[in-house]
Amino acid sequence: MADSAHSEPIVGIDLGTTNSLVAFCDERGPRILTDETGAALLPSAVRIGPDGAMTVGRAARDHIVEFPRETVHSVKRLMGQTIEQVRGDVEYLSYEVVAGEGSAARIRIHDRLLSPQEISAAILKRLREIAERALGCVVNKAVITVPAYFDDAQRQATRDAGRFAGLDVVRIINEPTAAALAYGIGRSGEPETIAVYDLGGGTFDISILQIIPSDEGSGAEAMDSAFYQVRSTAGDTHLGGDDVDRLIVELVQREIRGQFGVSLQFPPSTQQALRRFAEATKIRLSDEDAASIEIDLGEGRRYQRRIERGEFEAMIAPWVERTINACGRALRDAKLDAKQIDRVVMVGGSTRIPLVRQRVGEFFQTRPYTAIDPDRVVALGAAVQAGILAGSHTQALLLDVIPLSLGIETMGGAVAKLIMRNSTVPCSASERFSTSADGQTSIKIHILQGERELVQDCRSLGEFHLRGIPPMPAGIPQLEVTFHVDVNGILDVTAVEKRSGKRAAVQIVATHGLTPDEVDRIERESITHARRDMAMHRIIDLRVNAALDLKWIADAMKRVGDEIPADYRRELDEQIAHLQSLVDASERDPHSVDADAFHEAKESLDRASVRLHEMAITRSLREEG
Ligand code: AMP
Repeated sequence: MADSAHSEPIVGIDLGTTNSLVAFCDERGPRILTDETGAALLPSAVRIGPDGAMTVGRAARDHIVEFPRETVHSVKRLMGQTIEQVRGDVEYLSYEVVAGEGSAARIRIHDRLLSPQEISAAILKRLREIAERALGCVVNKAVITVPAYFDDAQRQATRDAGRFAGLDVVRIINEPTAAALAYGIGRSGEPETIAVYDLGGGTFDISILQIIPSDEGSGAEAMDSAFYQVRSTAGDTHLGGDDVDRLIVELVQREIRGQFGVSLQFPPSTQQALRRFAEATKIRLSDEDAASIEIDLGEGRRYQRRIERGEFEAMIAPWVERTINACGRALRDAKLDAKQIDRVVMVGGSTRIPLVRQRVGEFFQTRPYTAIDPDRVVALGAAVQAGILAGSHTQALLLDVIPLSLGIETMGGAVAKLIMRNSTVPCSASERFSTSADGQTSIKIHILQGERELVQDCRSLGEFHLRGIPPMPAGIPQLEVTFHVDVNGILDVTAVEKRSGKRAAVQIVATHGLTPDEVDRIERESITHARRDMAMHRIIDLRVNAALDLKWIADAMKRVGDEIPADYRRELDEQIAHLQSLVDASERDPHSVDADAFHEAKESLDRASVRLHEMAITRSLREEG
């Protein structure tokens, strides 16, 4: 196996219809390479100047309205195709497509005839520059992804584009296979059947893959020699998030005409602005329950509209069902039942829409994989394949055990570990928690990785909020948090508040981002700091629990104050003052407090207050009765 320091870098490239990305895999796992401005996505757009000069990326895409005939977009649709094969696509393209030699599709700009391969090469050249700058070395080799349905001519055209860009295309892999590789599917050495659901801006693909393990055991070698067979594909080359934008634009136009007069015309620039408005509204509705649109039409006319998530979902439901029908077709072609699909991987920006996730989950009867950014998952998987081919960095891809413990933040900045390091995957754990303040209607779940006892010493993996909990006194809500890590190392975190039934969840890849050396260092540090950390954790827990006790006692004393005998009250007051002073001191400096003394003070007050709580209960019963 080649040493990573001496082997030539191989990058992974997602050459997309709308956007392209380049990624690289090292011992930390795969990562996207960004340009000098930090941008990851390179718009797949190329403008041809009158002198033949090519402008690639954002600069080309942003001026497409000014230069519609000189700007080539969606060139992927033309790759390796004849003019007849692209008749259906040409109406969506703003530039001229003509028949070249052998009726191959060619692009005519400024009387120049260009092949789709040349345009794609310009995009690949730019990606190569981005990679060379980010890696600080020459890049000559790449793995490039193509749709599973690409035929030989389309694959060959992609290879040629690579060659024109000076790249040795060491392998062409299918986009759904790349998505599976990014999630580490195929590593377990078990046969699996997966569906890859790819819903972008303008295209929809569903692919059913059969992963046939090699006899190499598990790990990176298994991934390389496993066979990712495409059982079937289905989809629609003109179905995507753009349709949703259009639905919103139509709604807004209809209502504006209804409110302000039927004759109102929308010039192209307004149409463009409306389209952007619509997309922003759609994106907001992926995270929020409602979104507002406000458009100033001039002359004192103002269009205002609030769209609720429910209304939006009713509007897009038929569109989502078209994708679900295609899933059904793909299953029939593969002669499989939805139940036989082990996992579903989500790809493409439009899979962020909650209704899409929900329907796909219902159809395949499994929670789809969404942990990796759906815009980046294909490029990351291409980089995983590149890393395997380079023979380096395979350790990062090995995962039979959880390398570092997983837990959540609890009150006071401590960490409750749910899954311990070295647990074998798959594994699950759950734990009950409650709130620390009265009337809390939202609880933050902060997921952490590491061996130390305090949040500040662990690595944050993500967070989410459980909202909509009815207000209750502190300590009353019953929050159950469940961690589940599956065979591919994908962590599902679910939080349920038992009394209200409110639920929220998040999915995370718990394994990328650390080198084996870093894992070792983290483990060593945890041993060095173990005693001090444990003591700190204990003090924090004591402080949180003592503060809750003090609050309950204060409440009870308020209720039954007039009944408390003087000597009992004196005893309580003394103990309360003592415990309060320890709580205060531990807040100022946790190390100044002796944990055993703190524990004893808390226990002692707990014992002393039993009688008080009894009095409070008796009083309540009397009042109720
Ligand atoms: P892709 O072709 O994979 O880059 O996907 C682009 C599509 O995803 C566009 O239609 C975007 O409007 C859409 N998209 C991106 N982010 C979101 C989001 N958060 N919610 C809904 N759609 C989104």
